[in-house]
Amino acid sequence: MDKTFQCLLVSSNETGGYDTTISTKQVIDLPARDVLIRVHYSSLNYKDALSASGNKGVTRSYPHTPGIDAAGVVEASHSAHWQPGDEVIVTGFDLGMNTSGGFAQYIRVPANWIVRRPESLTLRESMIYGTAGFTAGLSVAALLKNGLTPDHGTVLVTGATGGVGSVAVGILHRLGFAVIAVSGKATAHDFLTSLGATDIIPRSDMDDTSGKALLKSRFAGAIDTVGGNVLATVIKSTEYGGTVTCCGNVNGGDLPLSVFPFILRGVQLVGIDSVQFPIDQRAAVWERLANDWKPAALELMTYEIGLAALPEAIQTILKGQMQGRTLVRID
Ligand code: NDP
Repeated sequence: MDKTFQCLLVSSNETGGYDTTISTKQVIDLPARDVLIRVHYSSLNYKDALSASGNKGVTRSYPHTPGIDAAGVVEASHSAHWQPGDEVIVTGFDLGMNTSGGFAQYIRVPANWIVRRPESLTLRESMIYGTAGFTAGLSVAALLKNGLTPDHGTVLVTGATGGVGSVAVGILHRLGFAVIAVSGKATAHDFLTSLGATDIIPRSDMDDTSGKALLKSRFAGAIDTVGGNVLATVIKSTEYGGTVTCCGNVNGGDLPLSVFPFILRGVQLVGIDSVQFPIDQRAAVWERLANDWKPAALELMTYEIGLAALPEAIQTILKGQMQGRTLVRID
């Protein structure tokens, strides 16, 4: 098949920087994998912005098309599992990292990266969630697995206006939790309240520099999306027996902490990875995102753009200024 298609292409330039353009590729140039998918929607995640700006930890070689998320319709398949016409979701694994990604009209991926669209979730909604929403779902699942219920007290979400954070606030609110949102954006009060946050605290309040091993315990559990000293402060402030999840590092990759929150308060820290999360467990998470976890405010947290607006949106997310989820329509 020598069909051409539109995509976002990131290339290195002579000054050592990276240029992002809308370009044309050929379907035959996609990796020789099982299933060709016509992409209808993708979404912008922080990792896409790293790939689009030449971060070699995410993408080794350029020119490259980022996009760790894609939702669309199977067009051709060498796998008995997937037939033309199937509506499917792909997130994580190597998509958009070193495999041509979802910021394109077509992707070709291994059969075992693919999840069927749940009946009560549209392709569009699946990409409002995208990897960020799926990660928020995994984080909520970890709190629930450790027995957290709304009766235990308030749950904290850091990086609350970001992609993972805003979906996490929405899901927790839907499940009846009182949610405290931590945000660095002074203007985000109305947005966070509309997602269901009961209280909002500035990021500077969760950036303890006292050097104390433990702080006053204030939260029954927490979903941290930023890492670094903010995560350390959250763990030091978690109540006896509470669970804290950790998925991101925008505040830093180090965790300046002692063992005392763990050995004196029994706090549990749970790492969340959406990339290699087993394929046979993914459909169950998507079912919950499609049904009993779906935030009432899903549309409110959505900013919809086309491929042409991606370069600007990538700069916004790199500066930590994005609010909610950026849905990318692939016409
Ligand atoms: P976003 O950029 O959408 O959100 C991150 C939010 O963090 C920002 O909106 C901002 O929220 C806050 N923030 C930004 N800069 C800083 C800073 N220097 N210190 C503290 N807080 C900051 O990203 P995502 O939600 O898509 O991803 C969040 C993190 O999770 C990233 O590190 C990402 O790589 C990681 N991630 C990990 C996954 C996994 O599988 N482990 C999957 C998906 C994401 P506010 O202004 O409200 O504070």
